[in-house]
Amino acid sequence: MRVLLVEDDEPVAQSLRRGLIRYGFEVEWVSTGGAALSHEDPYDVVLLDLGLPDTDGLDVCRALRERGDVPIIVISARSDETDRVVGLELGADDYVTKPFGVREVIARIRAVMRRAQPRTGVAAGPDAYGARLTIDRKAARVRLDGEEVPLTPKEYDLLAFLTEEPGALMSREQIMEAVWDANWFGPTKTLDVHVAALRRKLAGAVVIEAVRGVGFRLEIAKDAGVS
Ligand code: CA
Repeated sequence: MRVLLVEDDEPVAQSLRRGLIRYGFEVEWVSTGGAALSHEDPYDVVLLDLGLPDTDGLDVCRALRERGDVPIIVISARSDETDRVVGLELGADDYVTKPFGVREVIARIRAVMRRAQPRTGVAAGPDAYGARLTIDRKAARVRLDGEEVPLTPKEYDLLAFLTEEPGALMSREQIMEAVWDANWFGPTKTLDVHVAALRRKLAGAVVIEAVRGVGFRLEIAKDAGVS
């Protein structure tokens, strides 16, 4: 699914972009209303910040709605209720208020997409990692030998991140930034706790190797093809 992200705040945009990509979305990021309106590649949903440098996001919302029925989710830093009401009146399908989590945004995207195109389109299947493990990034579900593995949200996020590129060494800082917070400077003990939980829950399917002083590397277990 392609998301057009219209957001001028770079840290917010980058963090959201990374989060969405981790859940299997494609993200086109533009930082002005003008760029949003002149964007020509097709997209399935728009995440639209209202506070833009060149135009009022509400005007962008109105212009996009006049062109077609692509779902629009307004992102507002303004706590002002009237913005949301006006946004919805101008044709936005939903809104999120800053600060928000990636999960909240994804839940809104899924909800508006369900309403927008019931039962159309081909659902992407889960990704297989070896013969035993599958991850359905759209549904945020993990199965081991066909059985759903109960993971906490952070365990899922960590697994989703580490399996983006099996075999790649990820530093603690990269992992903390991607999974816990965009700007993490604290201790990383919680990371070790979550790695331990994943090792226990996915024993035999993946190996999460600790690289001292650096971070972690996830490999698909060699015997994962034998079940
Ligand atoms: Ca803004």
